[in-house]
Formats: sequence, C-alpha cells, structure tokens
Amino acid sequence: MKNLIRKSVRAMSGYVPGEQPKIAGIVKLNTNENPYLPSPDVQDILSMVDVAVLSRYPDPVCIELRKAIAELHGCEIENVFVGNGSDEVLALCIRAFVERDGSVGYFDPSYSLYPVLADIEDVEKKPVPLDARFGWQMPDDYSAALFFLTNPNAPTSFGFGRAHVESFVKSFGGVVLIDEAYADFADENCMDLALENENVLVARTLSKAYSLAGIRLGYCVGNAELIGAMHKIKDSYNVNYLTQEIARVAILDQDTMKANVSAIVATRKMVAEKLAELGFQVGNSQTNFLWVKPLGIGAKSLFEALRKKNIIVRYFGNDERTKDYLRITVGTAPEMLKFLDATEAILNGVD
Ligand code: PMP
Repeated sequence: MKNLIRKSVRAMSGYVPGEQPKIAGIVKLNTNENPYLPSPDVQDILSMVDVAVLSRYPDPVCIELRKAIAELHGCEIENVFVGNGSDEVLALCIRAFVERDGSVGYFDPSYSLYPVLADIEDVEKKPVPLDARFGWQMPDDYSAALFFLTNPNAPTSFGFGRAHVESFVKSFGGVVLIDEAYADFADENCMDLALENENVLVARTLSKAYSLAGIRLGYCVGNAELIGAMHKIKDSYNVNYLTQEIARVAILDQDTMKANVSAIVATRKMVAEKLAELGFQVGNSQTNFLWVKPLGIGAKSLFEALRKKNIIVRYFGNDERTKDYLRITVGTAPEMLKFLDATEAILNGVD
C-alpha cells in the first residue's frame, strides 16, 4: 500500500489542527480569531441571498470582489488575486513561482504551514533562523525562488521595520510574498511595496481583522504578471458564491473592521501591561496576539493550569526556539480579565 503514495507525502506527519473545542463557557485564546462580530452588512447580505443562485457556479474570476479590493488598495483588478483563505494563496505561490529544483525561504520560527507546502510540492526548504530576540538578519549569499516574509511575524507578534523589508525585496532575486495576515493590527505595513516592485506580492486575510475566519477568504496584491500566473493555475471556482458576497460587503465596511481592531489593540495594551506587572516577559505585539515568556512558572505549567480552568492558549512545546513562550490571542476585555485573574490565581497557588 505505502508505495501507492508519493514518498514525500508518506513522510509527512499529517495535519494537526489547532484545538477547536466546543465547550460551553470556554475562553478560547489559541487560534488568533477575532472575538467581535463582523460587519452588520454580512448579516444583511446573508438574509437577502436567493438560494436559487446556489444552483449555478459562482463567478470564477471574482470580479466584483476583486474590484472592492482593488479600490481599497488603489490598484487595478489585474493586481488582485483572491483565494480560499490566504493558505490557498500561499500554496499557489509555490506552484506558480518555484521550479521542481527550486527552493522556498521563510523565517524560523514562523507560520508552520510554509514548510508543509514546500514538502507537498517537493521543493527545497531554506529556513532563515531568527536571532535570540526573534530579529531578522539575512545570511550572506542567500537565494531562493520564493521567500515568505511574514510581517508582523507569527507566532512572535513582532514587526520587522519597513525600511528593512524594502531593502531586502530590492536586493532579492526571487519572488517575495509578504504575508500580512496581521498587518491591520500593526503600526505600519508594506502594501505599497507590492505595487512598486515587480517581484513583490502582499497577502492579506479576512480571517483576523474582519472577523471572518469561517468564510475562508484571503487575497494578494501585486504585479499583474505574477497575479496572472496565479490565475492560470487556480481551481476553476476556488472562491464560492457566498464567500465572494460576504467578503465584498465586509471590505466595503472599513469602519466596522477598524472599530474592532481598535478595541483589540486597546485590550492588547491592557493585557501586556498586566502581564509585565506579573513579571512576565512580553514583546511589543503588532498583531492580535501576545508572545509571552512566563518567567518563574514556565510556559508548559501555565498552559496546563489554564487548560484545567477551560482557558486555552497556544503552546509550541515541541520546538527548542519556542518552548518557553505562550501565544495568547487577544479576546474581548471580559475574556482577558478572566484570563488575567486565572493566571494570577495560578501564580499565587490559589488554584
Ligand atoms: N499567514 C499567517 C502568518 C497566519 O498566521 C495565518 C493564519 N493562521 C494565515 C496566513 C492563514 O490565514 P487564512 O485563514 O486566510 O488561511
């Protein structure tokens, strides 16, 4: 049986989904979702859907949605590709831009999907280790056909300065996909680099800032030739009708997205200050999560003690680089107060 399956697929360990438990009263701070409702226009559009349209295939090239995205970023629809989550956008980048004997680069640590996608396509992986403080220095003579530059990075929550990113993309010979999944929560972004440099794409998602992880919509913006290549190889109907409609109205309602982001950024500040007071090391997050080193108690013990209290955060215990940290999604203020109270009780041994 095993020889019926490709060698590289046989060697893969399989998808380990983030915990998605359905337990009443749980405080779920482990997968960087947005705790607030999406735009009210999403509810309206769903109420108005005539189910008869669902018997027909959707627009294969998503014109109306791409128009809304192009208008948002001040570009043409030829500069916009939309996918079934930004995960699909990332996968198509490898297929479109990396030859069989080519290579893919990314930071280590960073989003765990990149090496998996490289393995699926059987291409060489060229991770760039971050330094002890999760900063970034490119090794000398580094090259790759495609580099996934995650900014702000995950799971570390830190942003790399715009000037640093700009000088890298200008000196790099391959395609750079700047993964800006969390950029709506950051002080700066690099969207303009995608429109000024022929080797740069910037990817965004509606899963975080827009509170729409459930519809699966991601997109990238950049040079029309790169975008055209991705269109050649995508599935015919990669974004379904409902997702196209929901995403379009959500993008048109920037006010709701920005209000939700402001609430999360304010809560992030409150939680970071409180955790620092408790003696934890907390980085300057540019995302909707915090990267925290729980000094004293240790990451694993705190993770397990919180889990017993039905508060779920993320622990990356199987990697030397990350095993002393927890990644804590910023939820609503009441959720975060529960988390802080529980953490304080655990530290004080009044468990
Ligand atoms: N990039 C990064 C850095 C992420 O953390 C995530 C979400 N886990 C994604 C991309 C994927 O987002 P989407 O839900 O759009 O597939």
